[in-house]
Amino acid sequence: MATLTDTFGVQKALTQLGITAINDGTSTGLNSFANGELISSYSPVDGSLIAQVKTSTPDDYQTVMAKAEEAFKVWRLVPAPKRGDIVRQMAEELRKFKEPLGQLVSFEMGKSLQEGLGEVQEMIDICDFAVGLSRQLYGLTMHSERPLHRMYEQWHPLGIVGIISAFNFPVAVWSWNSMLALVCGDVYVWKPSSKAPICAIACQNIIKTVLERNNLPEGISGLVTGEACNELLNNDKRIPLVSFTGSTRVGRHVSKTVAERFGKTILELGGNNAIIVSEHSDISMVLVGAVFGAVGTAGQRCTSTRRLIIHESVYDKTVAVLKSAYAQLKIGNPLDSNNHVGPLIDKMAVESFLNAIEKAKAEGGTVVTGGGVVQGEGYESGCYVNPCIIEAENHYTVVQEETFAPILYLMKYSTIEEAIALQNGVPQGLSSSIFTNSMREMELFLSQSGSDCGIANVNIGTSGAEIGGAFGGEKETGGGRESGSDAWRAYMRRQTNTINYGTQLPLAQGIRFDL
Ligand code: NAD
Repeated sequence: MATLTDTFGVQKALTQLGITAINDGTSTGLNSFANGELISSYSPVDGSLIAQVKTSTPDDYQTVMAKAEEAFKVWRLVPAPKRGDIVRQMAEELRKFKEPLGQLVSFEMGKSLQEGLGEVQEMIDICDFAVGLSRQLYGLTMHSERPLHRMYEQWHPLGIVGIISAFNFPVAVWSWNSMLALVCGDVYVWKPSSKAPICAIACQNIIKTVLERNNLPEGISGLVTGEACNELLNNDKRIPLVSFTGSTRVGRHVSKTVAERFGKTILELGGNNAIIVSEHSDISMVLVGAVFGAVGTAGQRCTSTRRLIIHESVYDKTVAVLKSAYAQLKIGNPLDSNNHVGPLIDKMAVESFLNAIEKAKAEGGTVVTGGGVVQGEGYESGCYVNPCIIEAENHYTVVQEETFAPILYLMKYSTIEEAIALQNGVPQGLSSSIFTNSMREMELFLSQSGSDCGIANVNIGTSGAEIGGAFGGEKETGGGRESGSDAWRAYMRRQTNTINYGTQLPLAQGIRFDL
């Protein structure tokens, strides 16, 4: 059995995050009970075993849920601005631990250190947003049609929110959900990806200090680990809302299962994001947007750029510029800031990258550059691949699917209407973008007959988003919205109240019922 890794100073980061004895499977974090089998978390950076985590048995799951139910009774009575103050303290703790947590994210998931730190920054940002929100959970008042009556709506907490997260944003996705849920008066039970469980334990350790300091029950923040907990969560009537982030395939199942018991879901599923490169675009901006979008996080963002729809008049020039940019990409250890592209999460992801390239070729696609696994010293994990560009057609089966890897499909268009139809011509609807200096094209792209995605950008790539906006997508991306704007409403239940302060009981719509 390999021991806890000490590569790249990660041991120090783990110690700072309170993860010391985890390699014997005993440390499980706040409100997390785990007596089941061990899961091993290997770093895709160098293939080493970071640590092992015990999974939650069905009994452990019940214990966590019981604590969450008790905690909800306390937490819902804490005034919302005071809940906001607790979240403010959580943000302070996250600021303190930004460096080691960012390092751990980078090492466990394989994204660059800059992106790991950026992910923690996003957590801090959503906390700050949630603090302000805690004083703005507004409801409307309406004029009643009946005399001496008052009507208004108010928003109450839902209860226990189930959070199921994907491996690629192992901490930020949890915070988008958990911090909003907390100010809304909900408690939560989090089931992280089994590919990045240590990040989850680190988060629980950070939250724990705040809850303890404020004498709040640990059940406010629950964690269950291991795949067996997925179905328990999906089917649990005590969980009125399941916020699921992951693939469309699994999301479809979660959606049906939770709907069957009349639970609600927030679904944040796969994307198949395109950039339209107009003849009126600025090529130097396209280059940064497209290359970062396609190879950043090794193509493992839900918002990664998967398709470039290029005007025929600038097609050859764009392909030449992209080819030369790809030739300069440095692939390697993501903790080294000189590198542009880190590893894929595991060898299964490498397989699906290689298979997609073969499928594209079989369907008639032409590889422009890249493809294949990077071998040799520094690449021992077997998870590093050469980002690939393929000339393809939108209708190919493989182009219609999301391959979670750095493959960029190129296609030509001649009219803007055709470009928009290609952009919309996939089952997913997450992020989209146009690079153009033409106001007419820009407005058309953003109009009701333009992009059908949840996110539509102009002169910005598809990848990444700020927490201030509602995040999510349409069609097979699931329709969920989380993070900023009014996404908080999904974490609360709306109640319409009508109060009669008169001495008569008139019925609505003038109905008479004389006794
Ligand atoms: P995945 O679907 O394999 O797993 C996601 C989560 O679902 C994991 O925690 C997994 O353990 C859990 N799970 C597995 N079976 C389940 C079941 N039967 N019921 C409930 N949960 C179950 O996805 P992944 O490989 O971890 O992540 C990559 C996918 O996530 C991509 O498709 C990506 O586009 C998507 N994603 C979407 C967003 C978004 O906001 N739209 C953000 C990040 C990732």
